[in-house]
Amino acid sequence: MKYISTRGGSPGVTSAEAIRLGIAPDGGLFTPQTIPHYAEADLKKLLPLSYQELATEIIGSFLTDYQKAALQKMIAAAYRSPQKFAHPQVAPVVQLSGAQYILELWHGPTCAFKDVALQLLPHLMQEGNRLTASETETVILVATSGDTGKAALEGFCDIPGTKIIVFFPDQGVSQIQRLQMVTQEGANTAVVSVRGNFDDAQNGVKQLFTDPELIQNLKINGRAFSSANSINWGRLVPQIVYYFFGYFELCRKEIIQFGAPINVTVPTGNFGNILAAYLAKQMSLPIKKLICASNANNVLADFINTGIYDRNRNFYTTISPSMDILISSNLERLLYYLSGNNTAQITRWMHDLKSGGRYEIDEAMKKRIRNSFYGGSASETETMATIKKTFESTGQALDPHTAVGVTVYERYRSETGDETPTLFAATASPFKFNASVIEAISGKEAVSGLDEFQLLERLQKLTGMEIPPSLAGLKEKPVRHQTVCAKEEMKPVVENLLKLK
Ligand SMILES: *Cc1c(COP(=O)(O)O)cnc(C)c1O
Repeated sequence: MKYISTRGGSPGVTSAEAIRLGIAPDGGLFTPQTIPHYAEADLKKLLPLSYQELATEIIGSFLTDYQKAALQKMIAAAYRSPQKFAHPQVAPVVQLSGAQYILELWHGPTCAFKDVALQLLPHLMQEGNRLTASETETVILVATSGDTGKAALEGFCDIPGTKIIVFFPDQGVSQIQRLQMVTQEGANTAVVSVRGNFDDAQNGVKQLFTDPELIQNLKINGRAFSSANSINWGRLVPQIVYYFFGYFELCRKEIIQFGAPINVTVPTGNFGNILAAYLAKQMSLPIKKLICASNANNVLADFINTGIYDRNRNFYTTISPSMDILISSNLERLLYYLSGNNTAQITRWMHDLKSGGRYEIDEAMKKRIRNSFYGGSASETETMATIKKTFESTGQALDPHTAVGVTVYERYRSETGDETPTLFAATASPFKFNASVIEAISGKEAVSGLDEFQLLERLQKLTGMEIPPSLAGLKEKPVRHQTVCAKEEMKPVVENLLKLK
């Protein structure tokens, strides 16, 4: 299977090459020329598989140049339990209420869903280097709104042949997220705080990726950049697996019969996680509606409802920081699929987005998007109210990102009366965003004066849930990374870290 660029400017490459490069040379995103499709009988054969077996099947259907035995080995290493994933099922399904079920994606080492992909990606890259006979050292550059950075650091830590540099916005991550990153171990890791917001960090990293001087200097040193953000196909494809697994769990629990439709709700930022659900739907998984939930940064909700993507608006720092994004990179892939692979049109839209911050799709595409997606946004007050209400009625503590999803879903359900069983992507452990969760449930006084570790204990008492050991253990870890820079200084910082100058 060949991978091509959404902007049409690069010849077909293998999946190993697409994963190694991260982003296509013309600035577009790699996507397979065709999306695998399961006939009903073949889909049914996947039903009894364990998470790891299912991952081997689904990932193998996309990464056709990887040997099955090699994939099995990498998947076994990435999803080991309890070493890597606290739960043996990797992504267990838990009832919320009625026919509403939560797909818990946060049992990995950093307590957010990004572990599912980022525990595997370094192995896929290492093997990709081998398959393409590349001797180059891979330098991973990451811009993070909090969760990607830590999950990538954990995944790449001490993986031979790789270095990783993570930039996070100094005002845009939670205390726990910051602590997780600045205490990161590993001889090949670096963490830098940028004065600005996530889009500043992301734009800075995008510029570094295409800076001719930097690329040339790296090349002389036997190195090349790659990306661990969800623009990398190797990040996306492991995420498709858990939607299949969640669906099959609902079948096994006899909530639905095999073949019956479900809805899927995803709290969305860069449009990676929900795009994985859309791909599962394209592959034949019976998904009726994809509910795309935004926080106050509602650029995606507006896009789904109007067909106009317009990033010219206020940027808000919210209690769901991993969704504080105004440019959703992976939307480019959806546009590619829905425009019938119209690469010239995508190139124009992406140009318009860069120059004027805005583009508008045509009526036919608007219709196609609304066929598959429902878009909505949740305010901070609504999100807090959902956490409280859910806790009081079900005993479950939702993290603020997951609560954005539940809030938007409730609106969808009351607007449409659609009672189709629904799976909610639970993207982070409530412990990772403890202060917001406790405040939502018990009020502002309950958090005042408490440090991060007292907050963890408080949430444990409140919910009876166990504190994830990786978070409790942060207390003992020394700070190893203290670099702070302005957004204009990211290039010299990288040159310095890589000793290029
Ligand atoms: C990254 C993240 C999101 C957003 O996912 P995208 O793939 O960027 O849409 C939502 N919730 C949490 C907790 C995250 O870490």
